[in-house]
This record gives sequence, structure tokens and C-alpha cells, in this order.
Amino acid sequence: MDDVTSVSAPRHSALERLVAVVNARGQSESIRSALTDFAGGAESYSDDAVTAVGRAAATVEALFDVGDIDVAAAQLNDILTSTSSAPRLSNHGGVRWHLHLDTQPFDWSRWFLSASALSMAVTLSDHSRITWGRCARPGCGLVFSGLGRGSAQTYCSNRCGSRVRMAKRRAAAAH
Ligand SMILES: [Zn+2]
Ligand SMILES: [Zn+2]
Repeated sequence: MDDVTSVSAPRHSALERLVAVVNARGQSESIRSALTDFAGGAESYSDDAVTAVGRAAATVEALFDVGDIDVAAAQLNDILTSTSSAPRLSNHGGVRWHLHLDTQPFDWSRWFLSASALSMAVTLSDHSRITWGRCARPGCGLVFSGLGRGSAQTYCSNRCGSRVRMAKRRAAAAH
């Protein structure tokens, strides 16, 4: 497909892409579709790229369990320092203009980490709080971005939230 006009803009932020990759839990095809989805179908990803991105996501997954904004900021600064250079706009491969801040030569891990950390840093700065987190339903373990909601998010989905509420109601009724 050489028709650049068929390439759609990404529907998600890089933070939401990170969430999708972490929630893929190492499954290659889910990681690949998270990447492809974000690129609007404009790029294809090799097995090596998918593996590198999966590993990179695993190294930043701990940030979803950090509740302290000062700790999160320090960890994000560490990632940005080790993976990023000055931001630059690129339209490589004829795709839409987009931001890169990974250092050269190109490396999938640095590319993914720098973009993910920047998106988290911008989110933290814009909201003055940590919006992202891990689902509070015991046994779920999925992470969420917390974007698109006014109030703090506790569960990965409405489904997990209502399951916990129903379990509480059942427990209360049993007494
Ligand atoms: Zn790019
Ligand atoms: Zn959940």
C-alpha cells in the first residue's frame, strides 16, 4: 500500500500503546497488533522488533504500580535520560509527521521506551497526578492509562469494577 492518504492518524497516545503492549503479557501477536494499531497500519513489525518491544515494556511495567508522583517522575527522568535525545519530527517512510526522541542509531527498545516515557511524562505533567495504574480487582493484573476520565480510575474496565461491586454486595448479604 503506497497510498499515504490511506494511513490514518493514531487513535491512541503512546501511553495507551504501552498499556496495550503490557496487557499483551508477552503474546507476540497481541504486541504486534498494538504496534500496528498505533501506526494506523502504516508500518509492519519484524519478530525482532516485537520481541524487543515486549522486553522494553516489561522493564517499565513497574511504573504502573508506583503511586507516588515524585517516585514516578524520578523513574521517568531516568528512562528519558538513558533513551532520549532532542525531540525531532520525522515522516520516515512517507508516513505522517510524528515525534521521535530516541537516540541514533535506531534501536527498537530505545524507540519504545523513549516514546512511552515521554507520553507518561506529558500525562503526569498535564494532570499533576498519576492517572495510570493496575486494576484493583484481585487476580486481574491488567494495567490502564486512566486517560479519558475525569476522576481517578481504579479498575481496568467497567466489567472488573462491577464484578468487585457484586462480590461486595454478595458478601454483605451473607451477613
Ligand atoms: Zn517513527
Ligand atoms: Zn481488571
